[in-house]
Amino acid sequence: MHDLIIIGAGPAGLTAALYAGRSRLDTILIEKMAPGGRILMSENIENYPGFPGGVSTVELMTRMEQQVKELGIKIESDEVLDLDCSSKTITTSSSTYEARAIIIASGARPRKLNIPGEDKYIGHGVSYCATCDAPFYKEKKVVLVGGGNTVAEEAIYLSRFASLVSVIHRRQDLRASAILQERLQENKKINFILSSLVTEIKGTQKVEAVRLKNLLTGKESDFGCAGVFIYIGYEPETEFLKGKLRMDDSGFIISDDAMSTSVEGVFACGDCRKKSLYQVINACGDGAVAADSAYKFIANRSK
Ligand code: NAP
Repeated sequence: MHDLIIIGAGPAGLTAALYAGRSRLDTILIEKMAPGGRILMSENIENYPGFPGGVSTVELMTRMEQQVKELGIKIESDEVLDLDCSSKTITTSSSTYEARAIIIASGARPRKLNIPGEDKYIGHGVSYCATCDAPFYKEKKVVLVGGGNTVAEEAIYLSRFASLVSVIHRRQDLRASAILQERLQENKKINFILSSLVTEIKGTQKVEAVRLKNLLTGKESDFGCAGVFIYIGYEPETEFLKGKLRMDDSGFIISDDAMSTSVEGVFACGDCRKKSLYQVINACGDGAVAADSAYKFIANRSK
């Protein structure tokens, strides 16, 4: 029996572990991939306070992991398959763990377009991670799909490699922040295909083109490209919790200001919870609050 189990070692889970460790809670942190979370899909982060000019995401997350390990907290590499909310028992692919409180920091994964060709060409021209795959597209034409901050940052990153970077967005205006939109406009390698949908990804062995539908004219056409990078938002990693906690229709966990969920002693933090801003800085803030709430919950129970 542990005091606390934290599911997920992204910024939210690592910060929760940091605060739990400093409260001397007997804590286990479980992560199915490498610690760091999906921020590692970006090369740099420019809006994490204290780092003028930005910081490499690998450096930031490695430091967060080190800080947790310094407190003696063990990071188990395992996938959580089930949570029994009443007994606070977690089943992973190789073991079971029991604790007094649980923090869910399972994050989110890139959303798919779900169009013909997408699954077929993953790894052969379709990607969700420019940092991982950009070097394969040196002097080639790539398209990016989406209109938010992620597509803007990744288009700028890809422009260092590709010969032409075309951002395809379903509306006439992007929703990316003003500073990123200014940088997109200034970049000579980046252009925009607006009010358009990608309806199919085409190729033979590898991606060769996307099928576009202009939503203003209804006209369809093929656009030649070697790579398709998809950035249309994220969906929460909460399937294993379905029916156990209150969630919204998309599976984001509903939690209050204390990060409490609909189940007593189970807390949620970071990108797996419903909130208005999905950033590393507030994922860390969520993690700190969740650990504090878990500590108070455990302390009250022990009285
Ligand atoms: P997002 O803000 O949710 O934007 C997703 C984009 O994809 C939207 O423009 C949306 O179009 C479009 N889209 C959604 N479904 C689509 C579909 N089926 N077909 C075509 N287009 C589709 O996602 P994000 O850019 O990944 O950002 C996620 C969160 O992380 C946001 O809160 C963002 O601010 C944050 N973030 C922040 C930074 C930063 O601050 N530097 C960097 C990266 C991400 P509509 O506009 O029409 O809805």
